[in-house]
Amino acid sequence: MALLDTAAPAVPLGGPDLPQERRLVTDLPGPRSAEILARKADAVAAGVGHTVPVAAVAAGGGVVVDADGNSLIDLGSGIAVTTVGNAHPKVAAAVAAQAAQFTHTCFMISPYESYVGVAEALNRVTPGDFAKKSALFNSGAEAVENAIKIARKHTGRQAVVAFDHGYHGRTNLTMALTAKSMPYKSGFGPFAPEVYRAPMSYPFRDGLDGREAAARVILQLEKQIGADNLAAVIIEPIQGEGGFIEPATGFLPALSEWATANGVVFILDEVQTGFARTGDLFAANHERVVPDLIATGKGIAGGLPLAAVTGRAEIMDSPQSGALGGTYAGNPISCAAALSTIETYEKNNLVVRAREIAAIIDEVFTELGASDDRIGDIRGRGAMKAIEVVHPDSTDPNPALTDSVAKFAADHGVVVLTCGTYGNVIRFLPPLAISDELLREGLRVVADGFRTNAPTSATKESQS
Ligand code: PMP
Repeated sequence: MALLDTAAPAVPLGGPDLPQERRLVTDLPGPRSAEILARKADAVAAGVGHTVPVAAVAAGGGVVVDADGNSLIDLGSGIAVTTVGNAHPKVAAAVAAQAAQFTHTCFMISPYESYVGVAEALNRVTPGDFAKKSALFNSGAEAVENAIKIARKHTGRQAVVAFDHGYHGRTNLTMALTAKSMPYKSGFGPFAPEVYRAPMSYPFRDGLDGREAAARVILQLEKQIGADNLAAVIIEPIQGEGGFIEPATGFLPALSEWATANGVVFILDEVQTGFARTGDLFAANHERVVPDLIATGKGIAGGLPLAAVTGRAEIMDSPQSGALGGTYAGNPISCAAALSTIETYEKNNLVVRAREIAAIIDEVFTELGASDDRIGDIRGRGAMKAIEVVHPDSTDPNPALTDSVAKFAADHGVVVLTCGTYGNVIRFLPPLAISDELLREGLRVVADGFRTNAPTSATKESQS
C-alpha cells in the first residue's frame, strides 16, 4: 500500500495473460483513479457519466485492472462489447497489422477488401437463408437509424413502431425510438416524428402469453396507425437497457408474421443481444425468427467501434448510391478486428461457452432467489442474464436495493451494471473469456451484497 502510494504501479499488458484474480490493494477509488476522476469532472461534460469509480489501465479474460493496481472482476464487458475477451490477442494483432498498413481511406472514396469481407461474413452468419447485403456504421445508434432509413425508402411509408422499455440509442431518431425519459431523453426534444410505441411482452409483469401479447400489439397498430402507413417494426429480441426483458414465447414470431403479411419491414435490434451473447449467434435464432433487417454492433469487433445493418438484398438496395455511409463507417481497423472477432466466435464455438455461463449464473441465483423474496425474477439467456429486484411479497420495483447491491459489488471489486425502466434490474454480461472460478467469485460477491442489505433494512431504506 505504502509503495503504491508513492510509486506508479507497472502498467500490465491487457489480454488473457493478465492475472485472473480479484485483487484490491486500495479502497476504491484508489489515489491514482481518484486523481484521474477529479480531472474528468473538470474536463469532461457532466452528461458523460460513469458506473465504477476506477480508471482502467488494462483488461483481459475476466478482469479490469485500474491505475492503482486493483483488479476487478468484469461482469459487464463494457456493456456487452468485449464478448470474446478484452484485448483478445488475435484482435489486437489484427488491429496492429492493419494500423501499420493503412488507417483510413474512406470506404466511399476507395473501398478495401476487409469491409467487403465483414459484409460477406454478416450476410452468412445472420438469420435467413436468402440473398442478403450489409452496410457498416460506427455505432449501434447509427445502425438503427440507417435500418429505419432503409425501411422507409423501401416501403415508401413513414411510421415506425418501437416498444415500451425499448432502448435504441442517443441520437435524435433513436431517442425517439427509446422509451425511457431519464436520463436518455429528458430535455432533448423535439423528437423525430412518426414514431409510435407499442406494449412489450413482459411476462413477469403482464401475465400474458406470447400470442396474447402480440394480439394486443397488432390491434393497436391496426387501429392507431394502420398497416398501410407503417414502414417498420423495430424490437430488441431481449430488451437490454430496458431490463433484460425476454418476451413470452411466440411473441416475436407472431409480430414477424404479421409484419411480413402486411408489407412492414421487421427489424431486430441485436446490438446488445448479438454475437454469441445469448447462447446462440443471434437471439432471433432461439425462436427461429427471421428479420428482414438486423442491426448489430457492440460484440461485433472485440471492442473496436463498428456496427452494421444486414438484411434482404432487395430492401438493402433500396436507397440510392451515396445515401448510406459516413466518413469513418466501416473503418479498416474496425473491419480487421471484426474479421478476427467473428472467426473467434465460430472457431472457438463461443455460443456453447455462453450457455455454460448461463448455467453457472442460474445455479448461484436460483439458490439465492429461493431464500430471498426480494429477487422477483431471474431471466435472460446465455451470458445475458439479469435479476429483477422487488420489495418482499410484491412485484414493486426496488431500485434502492438494486443500487446498494451494485455499489457493494463495486466496492468489493466486481463490476456489475444495473438497468431497467424502474432501475431495479442487476444485469450480468460477463466476457465469454471469463473463467468459471472468477465468474462464481463475482456472483458470490453480488449474493453477499443481498445478504449484507438484509430484508428489513432494505425495505426501510427504499421507503425513505
Ligand atoms: N440498441 C441497443 C439494443 C443497445 O443496447 C444499444 C447500446 N446500449 C444501442 C442500440 C446503441 O448503441 P451505441 O451505444 O453503440 O450507439
